[in-house]
Amino acid sequence: MQYLDFHCHLDDERYDGARERIVDDCVARGFARLVTVADAHSERSLRVTEELLARSPRTACVVGAHPHKAAAYDGAVERALERFAAKAVGIGEAGLDYHYNFSPPEDQRRVFARQIAIAKEMGKPLIVHSRAAEREALALIDAGRFAGPVVFHCFTGDAGAAGEIAARGWCISVSGIVTFPKAEDLREIVRTFPAAQLFTETDAPYLAPVPFRGKLNTPAWVAYVAEAVAALRGLTVEELNARVVENFARLAAPPAA
Ligand SMILES: [Zn+2]
Repeated sequence: MQYLDFHCHLDDERYDGARERIVDDCVARGFARLVTVADAHSERSLRVTEELLARSPRTACVVGAHPHKAAAYDGAVERALERFAAKAVGIGEAGLDYHYNFSPPEDQRRVFARQIAIAKEMGKPLIVHSRAAEREALALIDAGRFAGPVVFHCFTGDAGAAGEIAARGWCISVSGIVTFPKAEDLREIVRTFPAAQLFTETDAPYLAPVPFRGKLNTPAWVAYVAEAVAALRGLTVEELNARVVENFARLAAPPAA
């Protein structure tokens, strides 16, 4: 089965000792792709990600500086990000988190704008993290005159934001939240969002889907996300996965301008 996990954090220390087995297991299950997030703030994360890329061609990565760490972003982090970006299929996750505000909003906006500029300069897709900040994230991307592609990972915005993302031809990636009982608004968006602009992800180790809520998430459980999304759209899981894999191929290798 050609599952695709568009966003997971295999660099997480909770996977120490299990990381290689997790990748090998997904490859054995026939995963099309596992996209892990490299953290430009962490030499350890970059090293671990490099090892995963070497382990299997089914792995891919994005690299970015998370809004939670925006207050610590400096020239050295940016240089590390730019260097590593050559190996990455996208820049991110980058964005705004006004739910937690672990870094001051002005720092988050500054660091997001820098990464929008880097994605634009390098011709890479931008992978956005947005919590309670979709409108402002869209405004900053527009202000940076970045035309895309853009993927809002683990989308949790409202129907209005989803509509704006869809109208720009951009994408959302759906996490295990789609299986949560209270996520009816998200399910409504997933039912009708353009099929060519959809991805599935785990965001592992976070956000384990039903029936594993609260447990340490793992990329293999993207199966539960795909099953939920497929059911909402009246597709078989095979059909849904085929679309997602196709969408990824288009995103990772955009037509020459
Ligand atoms: Zn995120």
